[in-house]
Amino acid sequence: MCSVNFMDTSLSVEEQAIADRIQELKAMLGDDLLILGHHYQRDSIVMHADFLGDSFMLSQKAAQSPAKYIVFCGVHFMAESADILTSDAQSVILPNLRAGCSMADMATLNEVEVAWEEILKTSGLSDPISRHDPDAPAEDGAAYLVPVTYMNSSADLKDFVGRHGGVVCTSSNAVGVLQWAFDRAGPNGAVLFFPDQHLGRNTGLAMGITEEKMPTWTPGIGAMGELKGARIVLWHGFCSVHKRFTPQQIEDFRSAHPEGVVVVHPECPKATVERADAYGSTQFIRQYVEQLPAGAEVAIGTEINMVARLAQEHPDKHIECLDEEICPCSTMYMIHPAYLMDVLERLVDGEVPNQIVVPPSVQEGSLLALNRMLAILK
Ligand code: SF4
Repeated sequence: MCSVNFMDTSLSVEEQAIADRIQELKAMLGDDLLILGHHYQRDSIVMHADFLGDSFMLSQKAAQSPAKYIVFCGVHFMAESADILTSDAQSVILPNLRAGCSMADMATLNEVEVAWEEILKTSGLSDPISRHDPDAPAEDGAAYLVPVTYMNSSADLKDFVGRHGGVVCTSSNAVGVLQWAFDRAGPNGAVLFFPDQHLGRNTGLAMGITEEKMPTWTPGIGAMGELKGARIVLWHGFCSVHKRFTPQQIEDFRSAHPEGVVVVHPECPKATVERADAYGSTQFIRQYVEQLPAGAEVAIGTEINMVARLAQEHPDKHIECLDEEICPCSTMYMIHPAYLMDVLERLVDGEVPNQIVVPPSVQEGSLLALNRMLAILK
């Protein structure tokens, strides 16, 4: 089993005691245990992770692992995806059940169902649920509304998407997934993209779709823009961390570092992405920083724990967060080492605490939507 090569050297006495106990418990559980850590977790969690990565990579690691207990140090939707992709004999555990995602919470099943019916009625598009084979490209002359959900969404939305001929995407594969969806929608069809408007808009613009063809949908308000002739209907959601990065911060960095470069995450607003030198997923950002020469100066627009870790890993480069005031993602931060220690103690005692179980009624559609994405990636 791979282990994350990062050890925090600045733990307090109490934190060190917790870290030592976690290591003892890990040793007791042996191969029965897999600990996954998201890039946005704090160092005192990451140091215990068997794998560090983004939500999709970690779900794949869960799916490939024979471990009986998978402790997911991330947020709720990530643990749900891991549960969908693992066998019934495996248990996925979230150390703190309150660790959700504010963006994922911005789209509920009821809101999406209301929007779906309204958009179908107004646009005149067809529901792919009526198709004999929703995985085949659209028939000549047909125009469908195809749902695409970002990985950052609840399992019941992934199920909705799967049942309506749609697919899941991540920030690293959004272009390929949207192309797949457009082929299923037909040249006059459209995609309903949720919950992150910024990832949807930035990806649409990169694919040559104009903003007039991307109206926004807000529950309780409806569409901002024309639904007839739209190519992507963007849900109004956003990430509270990434929306804080602004064009002004980029200007300020460039003034202080004329030779510096800026890289941001596609969950940032369009105006910020447009002014950056590069943008992409957490994995892209890591690779972008790695290929920069020694002495390079770079500002990064993503969560602070990941930026701080990159700075420690690359002492030969000047790395700073684009927003000097940025806080960690508040829900990711709910995974405290004491919670991790507690769930491991209980596992050793024979209990299975904080298990995330996706109900069988939404397993099938969710798996279909996730498997469509995996097939596109091949
Ligand atoms: S960083 Fe944003 S999208 Fe990611 S878990 Fe936190 S709130 Fe959700």
